[in-house]
Amino acid sequence: MRMTIQRKIILETMRHLKSHPTADELYAMIKPRLPRISLATVYRNLEMLAAEGIIRKFSLQGSTQKRFDGNPHPHCHAQCIRCGKIEDIMVDPGLDPKAYVKEAWGFDIQDWTIEFRGICAECKALPKESQQWFKQKEEKKNGRKKSKRNQN
Ligand SMILES: [Zn+2]
Ligand SMILES: [Zn+2]
Repeated sequence: MRMTIQRKIILETMRHLKSHPTADELYAMIKPRLPRISLATVYRNLEMLAAEGIIRKFSLQGSTQKRFDGNPHPHCHAQCIRCGKIEDIMVDPGLDPKAYVKEAWGFDIQDWTIEFRGICAECKALPKESQQWFKQKEEKKNGRKKSKRNQN
């Protein structure tokens, strides 16, 4: 694969980012450095880098939005249900889920993902008042679901 200046800057930015951006988000981030670049070019380059295995492409469960990941090492993701941040969770290199599943279940695994959802350290450290605000927001959001569950 030919490394154009644009592709180099996209890759460089991806390697430093911890935020798992969508193509649109990355486009907004690199636009100041590459004022003439188009969203289509950013998207095409991300797809090519992902196809080569240089970066990773994924979408979170329940979402069709494609995200890109500059961390090439095997890892899982944890998404914060409050701020939406997606953090990398590094897997113990001695732990090989593929080998385990193959041996225990006789299933040849081609690919796997583990996704965690919860509350990140930063949100947990927020002062009480903002936690209360988040809680109320969540309760409002889950209100319908909860009452449904109670009926059963
Ligand atoms: Zn958070
Ligand atoms: Zn990641």
